[in-house]
Amino acid sequence: MSSLSGKTALVTGAARGIGRAVAVRLAAEGAAVAVNYRGSAEKAEETAEEIRAAGGSALTVQADVSDQKSVQEMFSRVLGEFGHLDILVNNAGITRDALLIGMKEEQFDAVIDANLKGCFFCMQEAAKKMIRQRSGRIISISSFSGIHGNAGQINYSASKAGIVGMTKTAARELSGRNITVNAVAPGFVDTDMTAVLSDKVKEAIFAQIPLKRIARPEEIAAAVAFLAGEDAGYITGQVICVDGGLSI
Ligand code: NAP
Repeated sequence: MSSLSGKTALVTGAARGIGRAVAVRLAAEGAAVAVNYRGSAEKAEETAEEIRAAGGSALTVQADVSDQKSVQEMFSRVLGEFGHLDILVNNAGITRDALLIGMKEEQFDAVIDANLKGCFFCMQEAAKKMIRQRSGRIISISSFSGIHGNAGQINYSASKAGIVGMTKTAARELSGRNITVNAVAPGFVDTDMTAVLSDKVKEAIFAQIPLKRIARPEEIAAAVAFLAGEDAGYITGQVICVDGGLSI
């Protein structure tokens, strides 16, 4: 029997990138997975098809995580289908990079709304259900930028540092109900988000990574799967850095 068999999971932003790798990995471990997307309906269906082709169970669910009503409707749909929710992975995220003095309020708000408020709305809905179940796992994707900062990402690093604070607070509030809350902080991962960086910027970044390469999305998914599994039952309020040694 796979380690997550009988469990259910909701992964936000699972149409592509890290979210897709997480959804596929949790399904491979036996979980039935709800694949959330905002605009990428076709790609979300591809994720679900990949899961089904491997013998797993998946449904796709549209929602903009920065919109509370949309999140509440997503949870109603997912809980209606699954009946219970064991694992929430807060993965959805965006960047709108600019240096501090040039950052526009709209850029700042867009990133805080999607990355931080989105995580809060989903955590809140998941916690309501998990408290009644007296069990659950909440895993959120933070970032190296949220712990160490990154020039050009004043908005993004604030959102990702906020996720660390929310993770620790939710871990304290929910531990009495057998719910663990953790975060994974990737460094640089090979997805659409980093594809926009110039070769010059990428080279400069790789030179600073002790392992001298960018991560594959599957390497982030492996850490998420560990935190979702039985072996991580005594770990809560933690941030696992999966960054090739960047934060050493
Ligand atoms: P990506 O390839 O750009 O994918 C982002 C995903 O988030 C997309 O599926 C997108 O959905 C979804 N999304 C964005 N805003 C959303 C919203 N308001 N509601 C619902 N879904 C939304 O990014 P990625 O690299 O896989 O990143 C995934 C997570 O890891 C993010 O939180 C990111 O900050 C974090 N991270 C990434 C890196 C990296 O190097 N790539 C490093 C550290 C942390 P649609 O396609 O449907 O719009």
